[in-house]
Amino acid sequence: MLDRNRRKMAFHRRKVCRFCADSHAVIDYKDSKTLRLFTTERGKIIPRRISGNCAKHQRVLTVAIRRARNIALLPYTTSTLR
Ligand SMILES: [Zn+2]
Repeated sequence: MLDRNRRKMAFHRRKVCRFCADSHAVIDYKDSKTLRLFTTERGKIIPRRISGNCAKHQRVLTVAIRRARNIALLPYTTSTLR
């Protein structure tokens, strides 16, 4: 019972695209702090169904992350595998 509730909480967090909700939020490849929120610890881009982004913004975000990686603001992968 408890476990089920917890899972529901985690998954039913506002499924609204963060960039649609906040008109001030800009996706900028120089803003690695924001971009980092949408990558895993290993540097992978978090899929849309998890991040809750809309298609439009996810696409913009992906390009921004790619750009950020290109100038070494974000890692392609993190080699901390033990
Ligand atoms: Zn959006």
